[in-house]
Amino acid sequence: MRDSQGGLFRNQCFIGGRWVGANNGASTMVFDPATAEPIGTVPHAGAEETSVAIEAAATALAAWKRTPARARAGVLADWAHLAEARIDELARILTTEQGKPLAEAMSEVGSTIAYLRWFAEEARRIDGRILQAPAADRQYLVMREAVGVCAAITPWNFPSSMIARKVAPALAAGCTIVLKPAEQTPFSALALAALAEEAGVPAGVFSVVTGDARSIGQQMCGSTTVRKLSFTGSTQAGRVLMEQCAGTIKKLSLELGGNAPFIVFNDCDLDAAVRSAVAAKFRNTGQMCTCANRILVQDGIYDRFTEKFLAAVRTLQVGNGLKEGTTQGPLIDERALHKVEQLVDDALTRGGKLLSGGRKHVLGGSYYEPTVIGEAVPAMRFAREEIFGPVAALYRFATEVEAIALANDTEYGLAAYLFSRDQGQIFRVLHALEYGMVGVNTHLIADEAAPFGGVKQSGLGREGSREGIDEYLETKFASIQL
Ligand code: NAP
Repeated sequence: MRDSQGGLFRNQCFIGGRWVGANNGASTMVFDPATAEPIGTVPHAGAEETSVAIEAAATALAAWKRTPARARAGVLADWAHLAEARIDELARILTTEQGKPLAEAMSEVGSTIAYLRWFAEEARRIDGRILQAPAADRQYLVMREAVGVCAAITPWNFPSSMIARKVAPALAAGCTIVLKPAEQTPFSALALAALAEEAGVPAGVFSVVTGDARSIGQQMCGSTTVRKLSFTGSTQAGRVLMEQCAGTIKKLSLELGGNAPFIVFNDCDLDAAVRSAVAAKFRNTGQMCTCANRILVQDGIYDRFTEKFLAAVRTLQVGNGLKEGTTQGPLIDERALHKVEQLVDDALTRGGKLLSGGRKHVLGGSYYEPTVIGEAVPAMRFAREEIFGPVAALYRFATEVEAIALANDTEYGLAAYLFSRDQGQIFRVLHALEYGMVGVNTHLIADEAAPFGGVKQSGLGREGSREGIDEYLETKFASIQL
């Protein structure tokens, strides 16, 4: 991919309002997962460049924090407007580096814009409280103030919206922020930085550093200037970052892995359940933290569900995301493909029934066939681990109590889904599920107006909604003697 003058495809870091390379000139090549062709390079920066970005964020903080909320909201709204005007370009960059079908990339950039707009609106609603003081000549005030300099680390599976979900509330709250995008997908982040610059985000308020994850992360976590880290990625990396932040007692938001159960009860609307199960499993080639990792189907409907589910899966079109009609792109890389192959092998050796797919796709590279495995059981590896690929595992259950026990039998607690027409059952199961988000008769749970996040080892904090801006605000209490 080549950048035209004024285009959004950038191959430098954006630090303190300047486009720069790594101090030592090192760079990393980024590849298109659909073709394995190189797309371009980005700087392989590290601790030094991160430290400069943090200093720039600290310098920019005082003025940005003092900027009236409605002016900060105006900048975010302009940023959203510019992104909307360039949505095609942003979506093409996203598909080229990440592999998802163009229609999904358009939808992701749409949600990026929605987050920018939502938090522009929320900026104007930051308020405090006046409490009842114990004496007439005393005033108690509760104020909400920006946390300060923040850092963010984002994954490759949603390389655009994950950035907006962190940067927009930070800026709305009056914080400044330094971002490290995933190694495989830096160009969506840099394109958003180019638009932020054009929208008038002041120098240093938002920086993007690409490069070595460990040294950038250590610099962010170890810095006493950085008051908060927001991370989206694997539970494993989240644990490491949490430990690294202990030394400086930072505020933390952790959006980590998931192992979503998708529970289908006998009396549900079968066609709706099948449609949602396919979407919740195969969107983004199964590379979502909210993916239906375990499809739990009640005995009485198991065979009919399986038949309809298989018919729907057979209509999926695997190919290059830029090609019209593609519904399944490649996996992000060969490592991801290898993991999927291992999980499928494990399931088959433990008695799983291969109903569809189960192999590398004829297109080669990191393409994998949409796969369905029946008669799955908890002893299989993919009952405990995120599959992160186009493999649907169908489990049988008999009773509601059994379904709840199976659903909660995981260290994760991000998203869960349930399909039933029985109102009593819906509420019983909803309350019993140990999850941060539950889709009832729908797979649609992510929305800028809704709090997104998990419990247990799926993380800490929420993004989006009113809770999303709270994460970037501190509470200050004042007791005033009149
Ligand atoms: P990952 O390996 O944890 O990487 C995520 C980000 O963390 C990348 O930018 C990566 O950098 C960086 N990173 C990894 N180790 C690090 C370290 N020691 N220090 C500093 N940075 C480090 O996860 P992934 O494979 O990209 O993403 C998939 C995971 O994200 C899945 O587990 C998925 O469930 C989770 N996810 C969660 C949510 C949610 O909202 N809960 C949303 C999307 C994804 P490099 O790329 O440079 O290595």
